[in-house]
This record gives sequence, structure tokens and C-alpha cells, in this order.
Amino acid sequence: MNVLNNIQSIRKEFPILNTTVNGNKLIYLDNAATSQTPNCVIDSISNYYKNLNSNIHRGVHTLSQLATEKYEDTRKKFKTHFNAKSSSEIIFTSGTTHSINLVSSGFTNFLNDKDEIIVSQLEHHSNIVPWQMLCEKTGAKMKVIPMNDKGELDLNAFSNILSFKTKIVFINHVSNALGTVNNIQEIIEKSHSVGAAVLIDGAQAVPHFEVDVRKLDVDFYVCSAHKFCGPTGVGILYGKKEWLDKLPAYQGGGEMIDDVTFEKTTYSELPNKFEAGTPNIAGVIASGIALDYINNIGLENIKEYEDYLLSYATEKLLEIDGLKIYGESKNKTSVISFNIKSIHPYDIGSLIDNLGIAVRTGKHCAQPIMDFYKIPGTVRISFCFYNTTDEIDTLVNALKKASIMLSQ
Ligand code: PLP
Repeated sequence: MNVLNNIQSIRKEFPILNTTVNGNKLIYLDNAATSQTPNCVIDSISNYYKNLNSNIHRGVHTLSQLATEKYEDTRKKFKTHFNAKSSSEIIFTSGTTHSINLVSSGFTNFLNDKDEIIVSQLEHHSNIVPWQMLCEKTGAKMKVIPMNDKGELDLNAFSNILSFKTKIVFINHVSNALGTVNNIQEIIEKSHSVGAAVLIDGAQAVPHFEVDVRKLDVDFYVCSAHKFCGPTGVGILYGKKEWLDKLPAYQGGGEMIDDVTFEKTTYSELPNKFEAGTPNIAGVIASGIALDYINNIGLENIKEYEDYLLSYATEKLLEIDGLKIYGESKNKTSVISFNIKSIHPYDIGSLIDNLGIAVRTGKHCAQPIMDFYKIPGTVRISFCFYNTTDEIDTLVNALKKASIMLSQ
């Protein structure tokens, strides 16, 4: 589907895009924080509670079996989408943050104070803090791949800190603060050459382009459904079977057990071992509908259109006097972070919110990046395939006015 030719019919699928905010038509440019949901996803949730609501995996009755079937069919959809070897390598969690915590806490069993783990300077706090907690528990040391002025990782520096002491490397596929697309293939290959595992945080990649976990040969890949038009509260963790078998169970409870006595409990096989308790059944099923929705438009079409929006917006924004963009990697997607002169990003965000324009301001849960540039934060706009060049023009005019008002 050519997005450019179908943009108006695509927009009609998203009821929120027709609402007004502060008396103005909403212009939603905060998609990296959360994307909007189309009717088919909203209907899926409503349909579940109207017609299917029951608990999964444990009922002989028809509703429970139907709900289980839909839940497990959704797992197969994600298996196919990511090209995993088996559906049991797909674990449903509550989000990227939960998925990372599941893996990092499992590594407590594998690390000691002689070991090292590697993060990058471009990470979201979700991919820093859980690993710091792991270091506190085990005594392992965390090393950092530095970035350059353009917001790209220095892979020569990575080679220098990588060693046989390195046990796991955890990097995002796309930076949520700058939009940089990292060369994860090279990072994975280098990490494997010293026997280190790799976790890729794909929260900002999965909405924008294809990901093939087998081609990448990645050990863990994580993302959140709410970033690709799905509901909040659902995450996907892909893990190679060998790793998921080795990792200890994360939470104890119903569903994840094989046999329970007061003396000893044995755990279920994958994927149930990591899905204790009643999951977000309606949300998981609706995430599968969101996945179908973006695949129906086609990720190649989405990428092509969003790249067009990115270059259009970059050019227009740079016309604004005193505007500086942070993150100028050649390989970049759907995010533009900027400041205008020395105006505080929060002041710009609040002013244009009065006009119905939703952008994110602040550190974007990526304080080390802001520290690198020695700034308090940025204004960040982030695109989805339903955004238009008209919206960008309105934003640019609003920014020009805001800049004049706030410079006085
Ligand atoms: N990692 C990245 C790169 C993100 O952009 C985000 C959210 O913005 C997260 C992790 C955390 O995702 P969630 O809040 O859905 O767990």
C-alpha cells in the first residue's frame, strides 16, 4: 500500500486523530513515547470483553479454549514476524522494561565480580538501570560504548572494551532520543566472537522496519506493542531457546509450574516458564491485530514514507533561526530532537500544546545523551505513518512564533 496516496483513509482509522486539544485539531508528534491505536485494535479489545472474556490455558469450557487459541495464535504471529525458530521463543511481558528486567535478573546466576557487561551511551534508562542493579548484586562491571557528536556509537571504542570478560552486551536498535539506527549486526558479530550474549532493545525499531532475529543471530530482542499501534501493557521478548532454557524463572506463580509440593516445585516448559499468573489476554490478542495492521500497510512502505517525512521535516525545521538538531547520523529514523537558541524545551512544548500540537520535551529517559551534549533536554518530534507534511508545516509555523515570543 502506498502510504502517501492512502494517507487520508489511513488517518480515518485512528479516531483520536480527529479530536481537538485545547480547541485545535490534534497534531500528534509524540509517537516514540506511544503511538495511536486504529479502530481494529480498539475493536479487538472491546470484542474480547464482550464475547471472549475468560482465563486462558486452564479451562475446559468453550470460552477459555477460544481465548487460549487466540492468545496462542498471536504468539505464532510474532514468531513468524520476527522469524523465530519456534513460538516457544516468544514470551509475552508487560513491555520492553519488563522484558529487559526478566533477562537482566536472570543473569544474576551467571555473573561474578570478574565479569564485565557492556551498554552504550545512547540507551533509554530502561536499558541501563536494570543492568546497574545486576552489577550491584553480582559485582560485575559495566563498560560504556561512547557516542560521537552526530549521535553515532564509536564501534572502534567498542572493540577496545570488548573482551573475554564480557558476558552480555545490551544496545538499542534505534535511539529513542536521537533516532540513530545502530549497526547492531556488527555489534552482535563482534560480541559473539568473544562468547558474549547480546540483547537488543527494539522498542523504537519494530514500528518502523522489518526485524529478522535469525538473520541477526541475536540472543534476545525486546519491544513494546504500544509503540506499533497496539495497546499499552504488552511487551514481546524473543529469546533463543538455548538462552531461555538456561535463564531461571523470573516470577513464581500459577501457569509457570509443572508440579508443586511444599518440598519442591518444578517449572513448565517454555514459554509458560516466564508467564506466571494471568497475562494481559485482551492486550496480547489486540497486539497481534496491531501487528497485522502494520504488516498490511507494509513495513517497507512505512519506512519509505517515514523517511520522506523525516527529510521533509529536517529541512523545514532548519529554516528556523537558531534551531539546532541533535542526532545527525546518516542512518536515522522517525525522530528529530532539537533546541531553539537557549529557550528551555519545556517552554516550547507548553506553548505549542496550546495549539493542539503534542511533542515530547525533556531528557526522554536518556540522561547520558543530554549530559554528553551538556543540555537540560530537547524538544522531540517523532513520526508515525499517519503524520502528514501539512502537520509538519503547522508545527514549523508554530515553532517560529513560539521562538519569537520566548526570545523576548
Ligand atoms: N527502550 C526504548 C528505546 C524506548 O524508547 C522505551 C520507551 O520509550 C523503552 C525502552 C521502555 O518501553 P516501555 O515503557 O514500553 O517498557
